[in-house]
Amino acid sequence: MSRRVVIIGAGFGGIGAAIELRAHGFTDVTILDAAPGIGGTWLANTYPGAACDVPSHLYSYSFAQRRTWSRLCSPQSEILEYLRAVAREHGVDHLVRPDTKVTATRWDDEARLWRVETEQGDEYTADAVVIATGQLAQPSIPAIPGKDDFAGRSFHSAEWDHEHDLTGRRVAVIGTGASAVQFVPEIAPVVGKLSVFQRTGNWFLPRKNLRYPRSVRALLKVPGVQKVRRWGLKRLYLESLTLSIRHPRTAGPVLRLKSQIFMRHQLRDPEVRRKVWPDYTFGCKRVLFSSYWLPALQRDNVEVVTDSVERVEPEGVRTKDGRLHEVDTIIWGTGFRTTSFMFPMEVIGREGRSLRDEWASGPHAHLGMTVPGFPNLFVMYGPNTNTSGGSIIVYLEAQARYVRTALEEADRRGASAAEVRPEVEAASDAEVQSAFEGTAWQACDSWYRDESGRIITNWPGYMSQYEKATEAIDPDEYVWLAPGEQKVSP
Ligand code: NAP
Repeated sequence: MSRRVVIIGAGFGGIGAAIELRAHGFTDVTILDAAPGIGGTWLANTYPGAACDVPSHLYSYSFAQRRTWSRLCSPQSEILEYLRAVAREHGVDHLVRPDTKVTATRWDDEARLWRVETEQGDEYTADAVVIATGQLAQPSIPAIPGKDDFAGRSFHSAEWDHEHDLTGRRVAVIGTGASAVQFVPEIAPVVGKLSVFQRTGNWFLPRKNLRYPRSVRALLKVPGVQKVRRWGLKRLYLESLTLSIRHPRTAGPVLRLKSQIFMRHQLRDPEVRRKVWPDYTFGCKRVLFSSYWLPALQRDNVEVVTDSVERVEPEGVRTKDGRLHEVDTIIWGTGFRTTSFMFPMEVIGREGRSLRDEWASGPHAHLGMTVPGFPNLFVMYGPNTNTSGGSIIVYLEAQARYVRTALEEADRRGASAAEVRPEVEAASDAEVQSAFEGTAWQACDSWYRDESGRIITNWPGYMSQYEKATEAIDPDEYVWLAPGEQKVSP
């Protein structure tokens, strides 16, 4: 089909969308990415110990399964290599324009197409735009006073400075989320002194993630075993985490008890135990999987600091109790600007409306993908499509399929574009928000919420529900823009 599609982002979302579109006859697909190559978050995050915390048999495309994963949850290099290989095998690697940062995408009302502008001053025109920049692309460093005056070296976990040798150094790690939990156990034995600044404790479940023994690797190569394993991981293992989050009074306590027993067993030091024990509902924030984090915190050269960080000074970090923690390196494990989505990219839709303005009181999109006033614009990993208990790849594949069916439907109708009806989008947003009622997600503050407290990143249900909801586009939910006409109709 001759419809031109520009995909912004060459991570799992963008590559998956390109493969889906090409496999269904869309020949004119271009992928733009600000980074120097394919990979998205797996290209950026190279910190020691970086790995996926979702088992690889599920954190991989359903159409490109591997029987050769080295362990349950693969390390970053293996995942990056996998994504590059899949892109190559499906012939979409050459569609990627690296080092191409998109600054704006504008709908041209006259020509009925998108104009995608890059930092280099180039313009790409497209009948459809897929924004696949994800929720975890923009490192966040909190505005702590004095951070620019620090005399030592500081960097974010997603921009790891591999030139900076940590051996013997006095290091501060600020933040104790999923990234810190992976790199702290790696650097703790190497550094001289490590101060871990924790604002909130986490719930943990065990995970050693050792290399598969030869027998397991051999078993996984037996035809059918891989398939059953994937099914089990998807339906029984990960959806059970969602179950516990959705039902914090009934199912939640079961997994919480498992977490409590595990943590109590690992936390031999009563002082550290007191400091790190979480005080919020299980599952409200991301449950972390590590058998190494709590032991690392109890090393002689590691201190857990729970007094809040007041300022950064040239010599170190000053906490609220007045103490100066002298360090020569600060590592920010403070996560990402998850609620910024694609911004600061300008997204200008029909009649000059700006997506930033449309989302001023919180981002929302039909099924996380389509927004009224923005014809043929599809967001992947958009609002309310993150998962706390699943694999994002399942969601991304569902989205790629949905985008493809939308463009096929437009072709069938001879329409220039599909635009979601405002009442459909409003109703689906209301439905998503009401599905959070009574769940653990509502029980504390987290990066899933915006300033108003609205949960804007996560899907409130199971993977299977999202797959079902997005199986194919419902034409009645859309207005179909006909070429040369101002407004549309089925
Ligand atoms: P994160 O989970 O958002 O953790 C950020 C940490 O920084 C939290 O401990 C947070 O404390 C702390 N923090 C933020 N602002 C602070 C401030 N002003 N002062 C003190 N502490 C502050 O970020 P992340 O660890 O980079 O992970 C982000 C997401 O990426 C994860 O949830 C996950 O979805 C994904 N991820 C996945 C993997 C994987 O698959 N293995 C690995 C890494 C990341 P509070 O808890 O109090 O807010």
